[in-house]
Amino acid sequence: MPIHCLRYDDLCAYSDRALEAGLIDLLLRTRIPCTFGVIPFACDPASLLADGEVKLIPLTREKADLLKPLLAAGLAEVALHGYSHLALAPIRGHHEFSPRMPKETQRRLIRRGRDHLENLFGLQVRFFVPPWNYISPATIEILHEEGLLLSAGFTNQSPGIPHFPCTVAPTQTARALRMARRWGAGADGIGTLLHDYDFSESNLGISDLTLPMFEQMIRDWQQTPGVRFQLIADALREKPTDDAGRESENARLRNALRRSRLGRRLFPLAELVYWETTTAGRLAAKMKYLP
Ligand SMILES: [Zn+2]
Repeated sequence: MPIHCLRYDDLCAYSDRALEAGLIDLLLRTRIPCTFGVIPFACDPASLLADGEVKLIPLTREKADLLKPLLAAGLAEVALHGYSHLALAPIRGHHEFSPRMPKETQRRLIRRGRDHLENLFGLQVRFFVPPWNYISPATIEILHEEGLLLSAGFTNQSPGIPHFPCTVAPTQTARALRMARRWGAGADGIGTLLHDYDFSESNLGISDLTLPMFEQMIRDWQQTPGVRFQLIADALREKPTDDAGRESENARLRNALRRSRLGRRLFPLAELVYWETTTAGRLAAKMKYLP
């Protein structure tokens, strides 16, 4: 029975309140759970672009309260999404959680960010979502030591802590769910990732998807028989996905799909599902014989 998780990233002090209020209403109506990746001290793009000044703006209680109805309904959870989400000279690796960032500095960023969110939301933050999926071995150690779970993209390496990848665009989700149902054997994972720019209401001009269209999309997902819609923490509590075998078998399958044109035709979007270990191995073995 496939497991579906939804994650919305980049909620922060300056994010689009009207869009997010609309999304939250929609999630309440459709009763679909969603993990929110929240930036505790976002870098203010307005002062950066207009004045060349790097100014951090803490998430406010008023903004945090937007999530209250969803949290009360058990339909949301809060994840720490970096510290300020600011990339400093990515070519030198000076982003917040790069290998060049000293471990104790990373720990301070994580603790300060987590404390701020826990204060505002009045709950325990148990998740870490790394900005741009940049994460280093030291970050993994800290997550272990601080008792945090992980939701990122595919890492191609075993993070060694319970994690649930969210990599699927909303427009690809229905097909990924069908693929998981057709070929999966158990708790195969489909993680849909959302940002403000996935919606035309953000006025960023990147997507034509409106909130009403997204609502219809969700209702279609809910019609897929046998899919369970869960918060990431619940999915991980039920089945902790920290085994190295699952990660490496899925990476092997993705590599095999990249090499096989016929494989990609027969198993469209198979690379977006986080398969159970045995299914990933079985599908990867099939690819061997496909050109
Ligand atoms: Zn982000």
